[in-house]
Amino acid sequence: MQTKLKFLGAAGNVTGSRHLLQANGTRLLIDCGLYQERHLKQRNWEPFPVEPAGINAVLLTHAHLDHCGFLPKLVKEGFAGKIYCTAATAEIAKIILLDSAKIQQEDAKYKRKRHEKQNRKGPYPEVPLYTTEDAEACFPLFSDVQYRETVQLGDGVEATLYDAGHVLGSSIIRVKVRQNGRERIILFSGDIGRPDRPIVCDPTVFDTADYVLIESTYGDRVHKPTKDIQQEIAKVINSTKKAGGNIIVPSFALERSQEVLYHINELLLENAIPHLMVFLDSPMASRITKVFQHHSELFDKEMSELVRRHESPFKLPGLKMTGTADESKAINHIKGTVMVIAGSGMCTGGRIKHHLVNNITRPQSTIMFVGYQATGTLGRRIVNGEKRVRILGQEYPVKAKVMRINGFSAHADKNELLDWLKELKSPPRQVFVVHGETESARHFGDFVSEKTGWHVTVPDYQDEVALN
Ligand SMILES: [Zn+2]
Repeated sequence: MQTKLKFLGAAGNVTGSRHLLQANGTRLLIDCGLYQERHLKQRNWEPFPVEPAGINAVLLTHAHLDHCGFLPKLVKEGFAGKIYCTAATAEIAKIILLDSAKIQQEDAKYKRKRHEKQNRKGPYPEVPLYTTEDAEACFPLFSDVQYRETVQLGDGVEATLYDAGHVLGSSIIRVKVRQNGRERIILFSGDIGRPDRPIVCDPTVFDTADYVLIESTYGDRVHKPTKDIQQEIAKVINSTKKAGGNIIVPSFALERSQEVLYHINELLLENAIPHLMVFLDSPMASRITKVFQHHSELFDKEMSELVRRHESPFKLPGLKMTGTADESKAINHIKGTVMVIAGSGMCTGGRIKHHLVNNITRPQSTIMFVGYQATGTLGRRIVNGEKRVRILGQEYPVKAKVMRINGFSAHADKNELLDWLKELKSPPRQVFVVHGETESARHFGDFVSEKTGWHVTVPDYQDEVALN
């Protein structure tokens, strides 16, 4: 029987990462992500293209929703094997899945109400894709694997996880298949980080592989140099402090929030900013930060050194992690400049909204964006310089300063992705470009074949290839 690879997601698009590998009668699903693009969300509702009960194991590269967010549905539909990933990925994935279940439930409730009122039916059922109980049903299946530890998954099939440097616990998965007396190595890049980012280590490189699946989120772009992040943040803090306003930071809970804290800590250690109170006002970000704290073995050299000197960014003197909604609202009564880091990262929901309500009309305050703002989101409208925006059902004039700090990306750009590939000492038999919008994936595919002469393919959804 041939070894086969089937692309069940993140093929010609970014989200819904799911790759099925079949070898020697073993079926492995590498990543089990949720589709998040509006026009592809219906795939979350369709029956899974292969029988979930027939999948032997899931291997997770990392805990982002577009890589793990479909797990509760897969388990609900019959998957009962193990879910292999690093301990940090498992802990963060559990937090993220519970949050996702809550959102699914709230969305379904909201839709039901709206449709009842309008007396119509929507394109999807008005039930949650999965519930909290469905998410919890996955938890016993998680099985921790350490970096560089090899797991036997079936007859002649084994996998090893290596640090991908993308978010805490993220992995590149190397699968080795022995068949008819020969060996094939298949590398699943997951999302690849960038060299010299704070907290996490640099991505692992490899010198041999027969097949490579590589992400291409930024396969058509080159990031701006990142040297100035800290300086730019210092400028925002100092000028806002002088003006007497607050600094409001919409941020993603995983990695970005912790990176912002890292930079604040560095600036305080260098005396580049005055002492200030920093509120991490996101229960999810606070929970994830705790996972960071007890996985200090995954930190890079600089971060480990900070922890050793008792100067961890997660223990900086003015930091408060707020719990209840009342604690969150109490922040508004504090006089003097404070920084509030809250979700959601694109201002589409969560506590950031009431902080925006309290600060967006104040010329003294600054809204500091540290992440990508998708089209159609409140964050995008503010970044685009709209003069009036609607928040929580009411319209407000935008009078606060709006700043955008570039260079925070957790994904390698096209040159960094190519550099990562070029560590291979001999050409792989084939490279598959996944996890990028069609344009980006095609552009990167052409770029790689032009620069290396290798055999590169950009697969489509449900394509299946034999790995000889
Ligand atoms: Zn990711």
